[in-house]
Amino acid sequence: MSRRVAVVGAGLAGVTTAYELAALGCQVHVFERGGSIAGRASFASSALLSPFLPQLINTAPPAPLMWRWRRWRAGRRGGEAGAALAALSLLGLARTAVLRQSLRLEDESTDGLLVALTDAKRLAAAESRLDSWAALGAQVQLLDASQARLREPGLDPDAPLAGALALTGGGAGNPRLFAQQMRHHAQRLGVRFRFNTTVRALSADGSGPTLRHEYVPPADNSSRFAERDASDIVSQRPEVRDERFDAVVLCNGLAAQSLLGAQRLPLAAQHETSVTAPIRLLEAHPDLGPKAAWIDASRGIVVARTGQRVRISGDLAVTDAKAKHKPDFEGLHRGLQHWFPGSVLRQQVQHSQSRRAVAADGLPVLGASGRPGVWLNLSPGGQGWGQSCGAALVLAQQIAGTHPAMDIAALGPQRLA
Ligand SMILES: Cc1cc2nc3c(=O)[nH]c(=O)nc-3n(C[C@H](O)[C@H](O)[C@H](O)COP(=O)(O)OP(=O)(O)OC[C@H]3O[C@@H](n4cnc5c(N)ncnc54)[C@H](O)[C@@H]3O)c2cc1C
Repeated sequence: MSRRVAVVGAGLAGVTTAYELAALGCQVHVFERGGSIAGRASFASSALLSPFLPQLINTAPPAPLMWRWRRWRAGRRGGEAGAALAALSLLGLARTAVLRQSLRLEDESTDGLLVALTDAKRLAAAESRLDSWAALGAQVQLLDASQARLREPGLDPDAPLAGALALTGGGAGNPRLFAQQMRHHAQRLGVRFRFNTTVRALSADGSGPTLRHEYVPPADNSSRFAERDASDIVSQRPEVRDERFDAVVLCNGLAAQSLLGAQRLPLAAQHETSVTAPIRLLEAHPDLGPKAAWIDASRGIVVARTGQRVRISGDLAVTDAKAKHKPDFEGLHRGLQHWFPGSVLRQQVQHSQSRRAVAADGLPVLGASGRPGVWLNLSPGGQGWGQSCGAALVLAQQIAGTHPAMDIAALGPQRLA
């Protein structure tokens, strides 16, 4: 008999997990407290599709003292989890490419991801790591400044640049569009979506997990985020229900904490700020703006092109789960102006700030939670798109009882104990 599985959260992690589970024959129910697919971290993403490579971005965001200490301690424990994540992210990029092609997904994708090496010191450090990245299976090419400028002709010729790393398989895209289309493919495989339904509690015993969920009809049916579909489970009345499943996968980021009870994970909130603006289209200057994705770790920014828009993100900061962070939108505008001057219009600019869960070692929390039938696909991090797709595949294989594509035990919650 096929397994009945609940997925909590309909962001990228939840939708891809639901799809992979259904593709392996599970009966899947997705619970989403909001009215839409990918309305939270997946909506705020920097639009980057990137492999994870240890020490690629070697700057840690500002954080409270206690968290810096935890980070330092996690850093001393060694790189087993980092190597596992590098392999998982490559698996995820390959899976994303297969899904895009086989399901004909249109997500405004552009190929190409360059990491700026702004001075000789960064260039030398990158050069010294090329072999270790190759050993992890990543294809990384070192470009000199003129090769980098050929690939990104919109770069300011006066901005100092020593070289760049080109990451094969990386690029930019619109993760929300990707997730929305994956939702429809998941539905075709029988996945049922329950929007406006918050999972309030999770209990688990030897015979499986039980969810307590509460449906609250949306106050405003015309909400721009409402995405109901004829096959969604909807009710006119608020209701609270307990429902038993064979397995539950938590894909709800920081909010998973409240469902894990005594098993609370040591997660903090990582804030990130973004600015999205329409690209300036000028016949006389066809190269304005980025062609694809550009990372500048020295300024802590990512610049990515999706369709006719540019998204600049950065201003990372770690706080405890409930604290706020004051966004620095101007800093992002300055970063864009430094690399791609005059490339966007100042009208219809969107400013946003979002946050996601982060563990002390900066890596996601994936796999069996330790409670019967409860699985985690949490905090996929700054490369969360590719990682979500990779983790979804492996977790679905584990839950459905087929041979997993790789061993992700090193990324489990036990490492955080
Ligand atoms: C600002 C920012 C920039 C990022 N940039 C990138 C990038 O450039 N590239 C990249 O690959 N990744 C990036 N990431 C990470 C990436 O966006 C995410 O890792 C990825 O989208 C997966 O998100 P998710 O599904 O885990 O979380 P979300 O998209 O946040 O989804 C979680 C869902 O769970 C729902 N939920 C929460 N609690 C409950 C509950 N109790 N019951 C029911 N539903 C619940 C929420 O409403 C939400 O919809 C970024 C993240 C942030 C915040």
